[in-house]
Amino acid sequence: MSEVMELTKSQALIELEENYGAHNYHPLPVVLNRGEGVNVWDVEGKRYLDFLSAYSAVNQGHCHPRIVNALITQAQKLTLTSRAFYNDLLGEYEQFITNFFGYDRVLPMNTGAEGVETAMKLARKWAYEVKGVAENQAIIIFCEHNFHGRTTSIISASTDEDSRKSFGPFTPGIQVIPYNDANALKIAVQNPNVAALIVEPIQGEAGVVVPDFGYLKACFDFCQEANVLFVADEIQTGLCRTGKMLCCDHEGFRPDMLILGKALSGGTLPVSCVLADDEVMLTIKPGQHGSTYGGNPLACAVAIEALKVLKDEGMAENSEKLGELFRAEIGKITSPLFKLVRGKGLFNAIVIDEQPGKTAWDICLLMAEKGLLAKPTHGNIIRFAPPLCINEEQVLQATSIIRSALEEI
Ligand code: PLP
Repeated sequence: MSEVMELTKSQALIELEENYGAHNYHPLPVVLNRGEGVNVWDVEGKRYLDFLSAYSAVNQGHCHPRIVNALITQAQKLTLTSRAFYNDLLGEYEQFITNFFGYDRVLPMNTGAEGVETAMKLARKWAYEVKGVAENQAIIIFCEHNFHGRTTSIISASTDEDSRKSFGPFTPGIQVIPYNDANALKIAVQNPNVAALIVEPIQGEAGVVVPDFGYLKACFDFCQEANVLFVADEIQTGLCRTGKMLCCDHEGFRPDMLILGKALSGGTLPVSCVLADDEVMLTIKPGQHGSTYGGNPLACAVAIEALKVLKDEGMAENSEKLGELFRAEIGKITSPLFKLVRGKGLFNAIVIDEQPGKTAWDICLLMAEKGLLAKPTHGNIIRFAPPLCINEEQVLQATSIIRSALEEI
C-alpha cells in the first residue's frame, strides 16, 4: 500500500523553486517570510537569529522602521524618473553621501557588481585620459581568492573555478596577485600601465580572511607612489560591519575610490555607488555610463535614511564591542571540530576541522534546528555576520547555540 506523504509548507515552497527556478544557489532548507531586527521567522512560524544578514545587506536589522518608512513615503510620491530628467532627491542624496564619506562626487548604481564594473570603467578611463596610459593597455590588479560579483568582467579577475569554468572568454587587462602581500603589489605597480588595485579590505566570500594590520595602508602608499588608484570594495566590509564606518578606517586612510552596496539600502532594494574625486569621476561624460534605475528617487530616500540609521544608532560601536564578545565566547569552545575563529567587529568566521557527517554544512543544519541561521563559505568555513542592532543577550544566545551544535554533532 503506497503512503501519500504530505509536504510541509516549507517543503512545498522549496519544491516550487526547485522546479521552476534556475539552480544557481544551494540554500539551507529554511523558508522565511518575516523579519524584524536580528530575528527572522519561517513559514511554520519558527524563529531564528539571522547570522548572515543577507551577506551584510541588512546591517541595520530586518525591516528597520525608519528605513521602511522612508521607502513607503517615497514610494507613494515618485519612484523612478530615469536620468533622462532630474528628480528632486538625487542632488540631495549626492550632497549627503559625498559629505558623509568625504569625496567630491558619487556615481549611483544598483547592485554591488554594477558598482565594481563602474569602478573598473572609471579606473580605465582615468588611466587613459589622466595618467596617460596608451589606449587598450590599462591593467587593473586584483587579489587571489577575491569576490567582487558575477559579471563577465568581474569573474575575469576571479581565481575560483566554479565562478569561471565555461564562462570564458574573459576580459583582458587584469592581473591577479596574492592577497596580504604588499610586496607583490609594490612589484606589480612598477608597470606604468597599471590603472588601479581593486581590493576587499577583508575577503568576505573567501571566508572572512583578515589581512595583517598595515597591509592595506602599505598598499595604499605603494599605489600613491606609483600613481595607481587604490579602489576599496567595501560592499560587504563597509557600513559599520567591521566596527568602523569603513573597514579602511581601521588603518586611517581614504581610498581613491570607494565602492558601496548592500547595506546602503538596509536590505530593502538594490542600491550601490562609487565615490571618487573630480579627477577620476569627471572623466566619464554624458552617455558614457549609466543605468535606468541608478539614482532613482526611491533609492535616494532609502539610502539617506539607511546611512543616518547606522550613525544615529551607533552601529559601528556596537559592532566593535559585540564582535569582541562574540570572538571571546567562541574562543572558549573546546570541540575538536573547532579550529579557529577570526574576524573584525561583527564580521567573523570559524574554521571547521571537518569529519564525515560533521561538515560545516551539517553544523549549519543543526544550528538552524536550534534557531540560528548561518551559511558555510568555501567548504569548511562558517561566516557569522548578524545585523548590527544585535544586543549582548542575543550574542550570548547565539554563541551558546554554536557551541552546543559543535559539541553535539
Ligand atoms: N563585492 C563584494 C565584496 C561582495 O561581497 C559582493 C557580494 O557578495 C559583491 C561585490 C557583489 O554584490 P552583488 O551581489 O550586489 O552584485
